[in-house]
Amino acid sequence: MSALLKDRVWVMLSEVAKRGVYPLHGSRLGIYRIPVDITEHADINAIMNSLKSSGFKIDSYADRIYVTDRWTENGIDIITQQGLEANLDITVEIITGDVVDIIYQIKPLETFGDHYWIKNYRQKTDTNAKIIIDTVIWNTKIGDKLIDHYQKSQKLSPDDAIKKLDEMTPLKKNPISRNSSSIAQNQETIDKASPQPQVQANAPPATPSPQTPPAMKGGDTTISLVGTGNSYSKIDGPIDPEFKTKRQVAGMYQGIKVWGPVDPPGQLGIWGTEVTVDFDICIADGACIEACPVNVFEWLDTPGHPASEKKPFMMREKDCIFCMACENVCPPQCVKIFQKNQ
Ligand code: SF4
Ligand code: SF4
Repeated sequence: MSALLKDRVWVMLSEVAKRGVYPLHGSRLGIYRIPVDITEHADINAIMNSLKSSGFKIDSYADRIYVTDRWTENGIDIITQQGLEANLDITVEIITGDVVDIIYQIKPLETFGDHYWIKNYRQKTDTNAKIIIDTVIWNTKIGDKLIDHYQKSQKLSPDDAIKKLDEMTPLKKNPISRNSSSIAQNQETIDKASPQPQVQANAPPATPSPQTPPAMKGGDTTISLVGTGNSYSKIDGPIDPEFKTKRQVAGMYQGIKVWGPVDPPGQLGIWGTEVTVDFDICIADGACIEACPVNVFEWLDTPGHPASEKKPFMMREKDCIFCMACENVCPPQCVKIFQKNQ
């Protein structure tokens, strides 16, 4: 059995439900969360391309990739002694994002017809799903990123990280070859593709001024995300709905108001005028970004902040249609929407 998949989650996690993962009635559900980010469309295409020769059927929709294995079961009717045939399938869904969720649901056998004669249906289907998952993880960019993750988080050498991934994916089909030199190449690609933090901890500043704000996309900016204010801890929600009468505007970031106190990087205040988020509470689970129908938010890197190192920046605040979805889904309740002129 795939070692990676031993930690099967059979219960719904609320954060998973928020990502739109719902078990079908009567189906068994397997969910695995892989601690790597796949956020670029190019990465989704690369994963699909890597799976082209796998023999699986590959589809995609938005941020999801669907990998289906189809197979035929043959048997004999015990009464008529005639040959029987059943076409079965299992689909694994890969949900990309800041983490990758891989899920599959084993449909009841009756979904495919009256195939009472098939033995060990669930076990075979479960194994076929794991073959897909092990193949996806080993043969694609997800594997590249997981190896990188093991090297960084567990301080493994490239060879040990490959070995760990190899042991976790024993059911992989047509495995590609992986070695330290291919890792070095992949690492270079991952580093190039990853957004770099605007300031590295303890790194010497690129310019003589450590307070230089990161490159701006547009709009007035007087607030910097870098500084020395680190003596703050994460604070609990909810956002203070009366903050506009209690706080002062400390400055602007790309044309968006920032309400103080602000002491970066540890204290960032409340951002926005109509779409407001208390950055000092936000834990960056991304629920608001996923919920917003008009893409008001974009991630903003905030390295060094105690609650989370990125925040949902309301850069298209003017597009808000006041549907309240972001306010309603925020777990620590750090979002507050103000209708115009409120
Ligand atoms: S209220 Fe609706 S439209 Fe406005 S930012 Fe929130 S989710 Fe987006
Ligand atoms: S504002 Fe709330 S919903 Fe949005 S990322 Fe932060 S914690 Fe999550």
